[in-house]
Amino acid sequence: MKPLRKSGLCSAGKYGVKMAPSFEQLLAASVSAHGHLCPGQVLGVRMSMLGLALLGYEAPLDETNIKKVVVVVEIDRCATDAVSVTTGVKLGRRSLQFRDYGLMAATFVNLPDGRAFRVAAREDCRDKAAEMLPQIKDPHQREIQAYQLMPASDLFIAEAVTVDLKPEDLPGYHAGKVVCEKCGTMIRHRREVKKNRRTLCRVCAGRAYFKHIKPVVGIDALNPVESPGSKPPEG
Ligand SMILES: [Zn+2]
Ligand SMILES: [Zn+2]
Repeated sequence: MKPLRKSGLCSAGKYGVKMAPSFEQLLAASVSAHGHLCPGQVLGVRMSMLGLALLGYEAPLDETNIKKVVVVVEIDRCATDAVSVTTGVKLGRRSLQFRDYGLMAATFVNLPDGRAFRVAAREDCRDKAAEMLPQIKDPHQREIQAYQLMPASDLFIAEAVTVDLKPEDLPGYHAGKVVCEKCGTMIRHRREVKKNRRTLCRVCAGRAYFKHIKPVVGIDALNPVESPGSKPPEG
């Protein structure tokens, strides 16, 4: 069994050249951001390293390559945080995209040439962990350990895929702004809806995920700012 990348430094390290972090360093960063060590962190870090390797990149993506990659995650569980931290993709930069399929899988898309690889966790990896480390009785601890040792082919199924990402779904898309004809809110990314010949935001079109109750008054007191000329707090 090949050990995972152990050292953060290769031979160039002695000359002070910064090399890609080791698996342990990536896992530590992921655990720190996520808040605990769990099987999902191990899976997410390894899934990310594999997905990026398939595209020819190392984790985390550097400043140049971060603009070339979009990762589509299919579940909002522990591993998703690991994917974000390990690759560097972010929801707020549209480089991390979420499709709520409830599947432990992620697709790594190389925007310049459209190459894409979907990496999915194997359903039998839990059983394999039990076979591998039967001496560890707690499944949670067993999976954390085993997932660090198992060959990638025991953990994942990887396939080449194509992903139809529309221009309005890509990072850096700024066109297509329209104003909701009912509430006046700017709608970005072509997310408007046509209803009875009106251009509406999804809230006004009756597709909101929430129900209005009433506006809240007095929010300034809860969220105060120190504006020039404002009195210093007493006491
Ligand atoms: Zn977790
Ligand atoms: Zn509206």
